[in-house]
Amino acid sequence: MLDIAALSELLKQPKKIVITTHHKPDGDAIGSSLGLYNCLIQLGHHATVITPTDYPVFFDWLPGNGSVIIYTEKPAESDRLIAEADLIFCLDFNALSRINEVGDRVGESKALKVMIDHHLDPQDFDDFRYWNINASATAQLVYELVTRELNLPRLINKDVATCLYTGIMTDSGSFRFPTTTASVHRIVADLIDAGAVNWRIHELVYNSATENRLRFLGHCLADKLEVFAEYNTALITVTRAELEKYHITTGDTEGIVNYALSITGIRLAAFIVERPDRVKLSLRSTGEFPANEICKKYFHGGGHRNAAGGHSDDSLTEVVAKFKSILPEYKTLLIQ
Ligand code: 5GP
Ligand code: MN
Repeated sequence: MLDIAALSELLKQPKKIVITTHHKPDGDAIGSSLGLYNCLIQLGHHATVITPTDYPVFFDWLPGNGSVIIYTEKPAESDRLIAEADLIFCLDFNALSRINEVGDRVGESKALKVMIDHHLDPQDFDDFRYWNINASATAQLVYELVTRELNLPRLINKDVATCLYTGIMTDSGSFRFPTTTASVHRIVADLIDAGAVNWRIHELVYNSATENRLRFLGHCLADKLEVFAEYNTALITVTRAELEKYHITTGDTEGIVNYALSITGIRLAAFIVERPDRVKLSLRSTGEFPANEICKKYFHGGGHRNAAGGHSDDSLTEVVAKFKSILPEYKTLLIQ
């Protein structure tokens, strides 16, 4: 086990560092990873961000994006970097199973592992942990670790601020989820002072839809939305054929589940999609309803209370039937 003083000491000499994050990185996964990357390179480290899979194109403008290695595109180079690393930072995930084959390589590596995360129930694979489930985003934790624990506020330059702002913005639902405390707003204000251009980041991330994506959203809302009023639940289901018809790529389905949640009285919203490899579920809930419990218990997943996900190797029809069959079990909580 490392402590903060030992980590701080280690970072004083140039090291070989790998930063990795979860499967299908979202804004917080890639924003926190590149935020940390842009800090570490200022200290003279040889740092590389390795993602298990690709991520949405609307993050490809992030400072440092050009240096990211996608594992599935360069497995040999990734394996070498992971095996040779002195230090591996594991960001925005809590179990090696969340990073596919990268998890096996990280598990085998002799490198010291640092987990920075805000998910429930972390697995024990790390040597140092900076973890807080109340954090709005892993990007917030990177900011706090660098400025407060490592005492290196000078590292928060425009590039770092831009990446961390993106992480906090996306994971806090644009500063509206309950995790968005006054202290989060103060951090975000610091990031704007440090050069993050807030309005431009919003534009780059949220006003970047293709025409297809918008038509797909229209199709989901008009034709694919089911509301189960007696359970305060709404569901959108998408087949593989529909993904193909609308040329849907990574990131295009992001956020669609929130439309289902926006109906008055809806406490649980689900988006179930037949991806080429397996069926993926995204659940969102309001208040105390534990969306993560359903994902963990029935769909090999987990997440936060109000935003969780899971997957299944069963057919789309079977998964949808299973989801519907679970609702009576949660009826009391859903109608509260
Ligand atoms: P999303 O619905 O956006 O894919 O995921 C929402 C949240 O659920 C993520 O931040 C992550 O914490 C969690 N999550 C999504 N998919 C999985 C999964 O397959 N396994 C686990 N453990 N968590 C997941
Ligand atoms: Mn996150």
